[in-house]
Amino acid sequence: MYNKLIFEISKPGRKGYTLPENDLPAKHVEDLLPEKYLRQSPPQLPEVSENEVMRHYINISTKNHHIDKGFYPLGSCTMKYNPKVNEVTAAMPGFRNTHPRTPEEYSQGALELMYELAGLLTEIAGLESTSLQPAAGAQGELTGLLMIRAYHDKQGKPRKKIIVPDSSHGTNPATVTIAGYQSVNVKSNENGTVDLNDLAKVIDEDVAGLMLTNPNTLGIFEDQITKIQQMMHDAGALMYMDGANLNALLGIVRPGEMGIDCVHFNLHKTFSTPHGGGGPGSGPVAVSKRLEPFLPKPRVVKENGRYRFNYDYPDSIGKVHSFFGNFGMLVRAYTYIRMHGPEELRAISENAIINANYLLSKLRDHFELPFDSPVMHEFVLSASRQKAMGARAMDIAKRLLDYGFHAPTIYFPLIVREALMIEPTETETKETLDAFAEALIKINEEIKTNKEIVLDSPHSTPVKRLDDAKAAKEIDVCYKE
Ligand SMILES: *Cc1c(COP(=O)(O)O)cnc(C)c1O
Repeated sequence: MYNKLIFEISKPGRKGYTLPENDLPAKHVEDLLPEKYLRQSPPQLPEVSENEVMRHYINISTKNHHIDKGFYPLGSCTMKYNPKVNEVTAAMPGFRNTHPRTPEEYSQGALELMYELAGLLTEIAGLESTSLQPAAGAQGELTGLLMIRAYHDKQGKPRKKIIVPDSSHGTNPATVTIAGYQSVNVKSNENGTVDLNDLAKVIDEDVAGLMLTNPNTLGIFEDQITKIQQMMHDAGALMYMDGANLNALLGIVRPGEMGIDCVHFNLHKTFSTPHGGGGPGSGPVAVSKRLEPFLPKPRVVKENGRYRFNYDYPDSIGKVHSFFGNFGMLVRAYTYIRMHGPEELRAISENAIINANYLLSKLRDHFELPFDSPVMHEFVLSASRQKAMGARAMDIAKRLLDYGFHAPTIYFPLIVREALMIEPTETETKETLDAFAEALIKINEEIKTNKEIVLDSPHSTPVKRLDDAKAAKEIDVCYKE
């Protein structure tokens, strides 16, 4: 069919793109559009060769810091590894060319992959069932809270509040509000974990659930989890786990074993799908038996060796995403999980934990460590000593760029002043971690001996310190003046 396509240079008054025969009621694109929308003059496209285009993008990409160029220790963002083999599987024609409206009998492979992936994630979570629909961690959270709401409503006992620890990720209280709940804070104790006395004070019969990140955003495992879930369940409330950083727990402990009713995964943080601007994201949710009837629909089911979408779930909260989720991401995550298998999944977490503890051991004498508990996949230092000498966490973050490293997450979690939240991840070598620690130690020395060089940094980047707020409000992405 495509050999009938003819491209002509688009000139005013001349018919351009010829449509494939029989596909549409008109021969030319122009005939489908009202006259007033038709171009009156040729488009102002730059005349450039293939080499020039390639060089342009390569040059731009080297001006930025990215994972292909250097270490990227942003905390709570977890792994930033996108294996190239993921792109190979996601580009297989059967996956790449499928359309959400392809009839089920022609998309058995895609349906099988979704069915299998949901099963693998359910097993990893130690729970009952999984929906692949949510497009991000935050949307997984919303999906979870809508299910918790549906659960309480179905019992005929609607509830109004969700408890959120003061160390939680900003998306947690935001989700609570969007889901129509009131967010109630619970304090952290001196170990950086949930303060059980404070928790007991805020639990009442209006509480629908607790949103807990485990390991929490300080990188510390909530070792009282068994008690916490008991307290919540005794009060008729449910347990939501923010599993964004699940790469600390794979094969070691499962949310289901900790009494969790609902957990979201960030495929872009634990299962190697692209992160941030390279997305789109994917935030599947797994649920316990209690919440299973409320999962989004449709779900893929298997009958007599065939797969189909089942819409017949009367208590479902409905759809949370157009069609079935970000399918290309599901292919990548499936590839990653199958490529590793159960033992290696555990090794991933063990490496993440070892790397974080190794890096912490190198830095703990040089920075304040506000919560000195053993850590999992990440740790949080404070630059308050450095601040007393006149250089803040922001200055340290900027100076790191001169040493060829991306900054860690700074000023989060909110309960740590001058926070430097560092997550080395499982995929970095000892040499990289050593070099990063040396850079931070050197910056620490500079603050004592040559502070200006830190305060005026970065010196080596194409642009210096940006006004982030202005950059977001007055976007300027022109190719040329
Ligand atoms: C990243 C993160 C989220 C939000 O995930 P998105 O995919 O960015 O929406 C929620 N909670 C924690 C702990 C996170 O690290």
